Amino acid sequence: MPQIVINRELCKGCELCVRACPQKILGMAKEINSKGYFFARVEEQKRCIGCRLCCITCPDVAIQMRVHGTMVHYFAY
Ligand code: SF4
Ligand code: SF4
Repeated sequence: MPQIVINRELCKGCELCVRACPQKILGMAKEINSKGYFFARVEEQKRCIGCRLCCITCPDVAIQMRVHGTMVHYFAY
């Protein structure tokens, strides 16, 4: 089962991933990160279909996916 990992400190709260997710399982936290942004979070991990749209959409590369415990990297920077 894929696991989505969001780095809250890289998130700037643009909500693009929330809109991109076809399962609508991403949302925004009520807390802020150290930069003062509300950050994205996974609200229903078990409904994730591993489509990777959130990872690809995030302009700040704040979202990664683990498959069977292994981190999947889409960008080399
Ligand atoms: S991988 Fe797809 S289904 Fe899973 S959280 Fe990201 S956009 Fe949603
Ligand atoms: S797309 Fe990236 S920067 Fe924007 S809210 Fe989602 S995780 Fe944060």
